[in-house]
Amino acid sequence: MIVKEWCMYCGECAGVCPRTLIEVQETNLIFNKEGCKDCQICIQVCPVQALVKEE
Ligand code: SF4
Ligand code: SF4
Repeated sequence: MIVKEWCMYCGECAGVCPRTLIEVQETNLIFNKEGCKDCQICIQVCPVQALVKEE
């Protein structure tokens, strides 16, 4: 995932990931890409469209 600079670190995306692969820190999001099943729920729930899928 590409995290855009306007991410507010609200934690919404981390809360919905079915595999809890997203860790929210104060000014950083960490994705554990290994287990990602590409469901894109995290992208859909972001209130400010700050997540973009990596091509
Ligand atoms: S839901 Fe969006 S704004 Fe909130 S932490 Fe995730 S990427 Fe950032
Ligand atoms: S695409 Fe799905 S599995 Fe991957 S980080 Fe987002 S919510 Fe989690």
